[in-house]
Amino acid sequence: MILGILKEPSFEKRVSLLPESLAALIKKNVQVWIEPNAGLYAFSPDDEYSKLGGQIKSRDEIIQNANLILSMHGDDLPGSLKSKTIIGVYQPLFQPQLMREWAGKMMTVFSLDMLPRTTRAQSMDVLSSQANIAGYKAVLAAANMLPRYFPMFITAAGSIPPAKVLILGAGVAGLQAIATARRLGAVVEVFDTRPQVKEEVLSLGGKFIEVEGAADASSAGGYAVEQSEGFQQRQKEKIAESIAKADIVITTAQIPGKRAPVLVSKDMVESMKLGSVIIDLAASTGGNTELTENNKTITHEGVAIYGDSSLAASMPVDASKLYGKNVLNFLQLLIDKDGNLILPFEDELVKGSCITHNGEIVNERVRQLVP
Ligand code: NAD
Repeated sequence: MILGILKEPSFEKRVSLLPESLAALIKKNVQVWIEPNAGLYAFSPDDEYSKLGGQIKSRDEIIQNANLILSMHGDDLPGSLKSKTIIGVYQPLFQPQLMREWAGKMMTVFSLDMLPRTTRAQSMDVLSSQANIAGYKAVLAAANMLPRYFPMFITAAGSIPPAKVLILGAGVAGLQAIATARRLGAVVEVFDTRPQVKEEVLSLGGKFIEVEGAADASSAGGYAVEQSEGFQQRQKEKIAESIAKADIVITTAQIPGKRAPVLVSKDMVESMKLGSVIIDLAASTGGNTELTENNKTITHEGVAIYGDSSLAASMPVDASKLYGKNVLNFLQLLIDKDGNLILPFEDELVKGSCITHNGEIVNERVRQLVP
């Protein structure tokens, strides 16, 4: 079998597999073909892949001959991928029309963001491995933009109080943001609709602010669900109290397949101190503030709002390393011991992450979105 690794579009610095992951595939007699410069921005030049048994082939050769293709993004995949099996992160719940198009081309599409988030899937969970990086980088970006210190200082020239960081959403990214902000010496307050994260927040040294009456999310597989009007109003009032004192706000709140909840209104932004910074990791799904613009930094009345949902890509070496390890673990389900491509749909992880197969959208949630 031939496995192809495509070079990602120009905005993406990560690559689906680093050279270090090749050995496990080659041992199974899988030929690994890599598009020239696919790993360049992850500091993995072509000769690193060649040294470890990979073969550098043109994009056309890979597209024509590979049985299985790795490409994180679907943006610039060519029409000639007809009948191919591809693996990446395609956000199918936000791109149902593209999924229909791909089904029409008889492509078998696995989107790793749709993997069921079970214990067994943890080693393949690209959302977690990349969100962890995004949470870390969000704090570093904020610290860079803030015209103040993070830690408290008592010096002969005077005292500096610790920065106040407010984190909205304590999922994987939010928890890493708490840990990183605490390491830098900030005081951290946190909101989440899932009460079960309270203990994790406290154990990282954050203060958890509770809002009564959150919707029960126990059947949502660990995710949040949409909240009632009453809850949203109570939550907004409490966020308004905290935000007026915050130097930095990091927002990460998401609801799978839905627009991100708007938690920070224009009025709240206007109540913040001049020079404060908001980093919105939910920017690509609409943003958690009323003013967020995706992939842009705007300034509103002295407050910078940085909208970026792809901060993991700004750390391409470790992001590719962890993404590649996730992919490799997933590939173990699709490649048998003799190196043949198999599609065991009886496996809940294979079934759950498969979006199109045999000319149809096979994922129920995505199918419902296509008229
Ligand atoms: P996410 O990116 O979908 O959301 C981020 C956070 O925003 C979540 O904690 C969510 O509760 C919160 N949120 C949503 N709406 C909100 C609102 N209105 N106000 C405040 N906060 C709000 O989530 P994620 O980080 O990908 O994962 C969430 C959880 O899923 C994890 O913490 C974990 O419990 C579970 N999980 C399980 C596995 C696994 O078992 N394999 C893997 C990863 C995550």
